[in-house]
Amino acid sequence: MKIILANPRGFCAGVNMAIECVERMLKLKGAPIYVYHEIVHNLHVVERFTRQGAVFVNSIDEVPEGSTVVYSAHGVSPEVRRRAAERRLIQVDATCPLVTKVHNEAIRYAKQKFTIVLIGHADHDEVVGTLGEAPDAISIVESAEDVHRLEIPDDHRVAYLTQTTLSLDDAARIIAELKKKFPRIQAPPKDDICYATTNRQAAVQKLAPDCELVLVVGSQNSSNSKRLVEMAENRGTPSYLVDDASHVDHAWFNGINVVLITAGASAPEDLVQEIVDVLKVRYGATVESRHVTEEDMHFELPLSLRKLEEQHTAAAVAH
Ligand code: SF4
Repeated sequence: MKIILANPRGFCAGVNMAIECVERMLKLKGAPIYVYHEIVHNLHVVERFTRQGAVFVNSIDEVPEGSTVVYSAHGVSPEVRRRAAERRLIQVDATCPLVTKVHNEAIRYAKQKFTIVLIGHADHDEVVGTLGEAPDAISIVESAEDVHRLEIPDDHRVAYLTQTTLSLDDAARIIAELKKKFPRIQAPPKDDICYATTNRQAAVQKLAPDCELVLVVGSQNSSNSKRLVEMAENRGTPSYLVDDASHVDHAWFNGINVVLITAGASAPEDLVQEIVDVLKVRYGATVESRHVTEEDMHFELPLSLRKLEEQHTAAAVAH
């Protein structure tokens, strides 16, 4: 068996930043620290932090008054921030800057009285957060069929935005339908589908046709990981989403000689290596790394966290 390891794969700059926020907050404040929603959509990341004393909540009301809350990489709506302020919570915002960019575009279009078509999955944390910026101005579409049902009062003032982790194929199809129905629709100044989603999908698009099976390491609720599975299957290569080595079904490998392994933006690299090791031991697999795009993106830690750390240092010095 030959394993082809796709590059880039795994953690993106937004996930690295969000994870570092929780690590630093645990160090700074000690357990428990509260995190609004899963910090990133990965079972193992959430379990590891839970063991260290992070408490993941789905409502701000679950956070004791006056405590610290970290917002996940997917962002939150203004209503969540308002509720947190009411409860005097210290807010650390680990929202990925590329999600914040979409929020800012929504705010700007809404101020200009545009109708905004938000392409995305209605129940995804990111879409819920973006919708909250301008609920009266935004209509969510999930498919080309949804576009046909859309009724927009003034088609001169309509713009679309997208979730950052969409399938490039699906988004292109939906945008084509939107342009057909609303020829004057405005596009975001720069694509909303983020660099990490684009690069991981591009790698699968290029490498999957050379392979007989694709394993995507990631969790079931990870949008960008699921899109990698679809990308491989749309190119005719069977693909499976696995959280870790224990989810690999060895019946999949009957008659299979070349396996592509990649990982969603929220999947830790040690889980990929664990699977590689299992395949090496069981099938004598060799490993080849293929680089499709180089990445060097890095996001700064949020100001709110840096301020808390400065205050902590100043207090320690004063002591
Ligand atoms: S997948 Fe993209 S939008 Fe999401 S955290 Fe990573 S870089 Fe940010």
